[in-house]
Amino acid sequence: MTRKDQIRPGEQAVAVPDRIDAGLVFVGRIHTPWTDRLQCPRQGRLDGPICRVEVFPPWAPAILDGVELSARLELLYWLHLSRRDLVLQSPASDGKTRGTFSIRSPVRPNPIGSSVVVLRGREGSTLLVQGLDCLDGTPLLDIKPDRSDFKPPAPRQPGDDDVLVSR
Ligand code: SAM
Repeated sequence: MTRKDQIRPGEQAVAVPDRIDAGLVFVGRIHTPWTDRLQCPRQGRLDGPICRVEVFPPWAPAILDGVELSARLELLYWLHLSRRDLVLQSPASDGKTRGTFSIRSPVRPNPIGSSVVVLRGREGSTLLVQGLDCLDGTPLLDIKPDRSDFKPPAPRQPGDDDVLVSR
């Protein structure tokens, strides 16, 4: 069963620093059919339900021109109900632990989720997408074109041609 906030056997929590190193702005809110973490998909599927990605003013112009050029988008979102202090986790609740950075658990120091979604439409400043796995009301951090079919419109830079040179 998916965690809510309990610690399972073998898991390890640490004291989270009270320092904040960077600020974030929520640029929108995601609307999905799921209201319980235990009912959410563990990973979104591209044939999953249509979800609505609401973009707040003043960021609405950022989806007006060009977003539809990408059939797939990468969404970043803030898994706002996650605890943030586990360094070892037991995803299968079997006492076998994995380091937090080796899994895609929502429980992480910065609870950022990402999904590649299919864009199905746009209604004003709301995108309709398939492929999400988050709770209704999850804050939206960013929208980017999926890197697999993105070609940078800006001119190339010297570093684009840098490759490993063996000695
Ligand atoms: N696809 C993303 C990724 O790989 O980064 C997220 C994967 S994470 C395993 C998905 C799970 O996070 C869901 O099954 C649900 O249990 C949990 N979850 C979804 N929305 C959440 C939220 N707003 N706050 C905390 N946990 C959430």
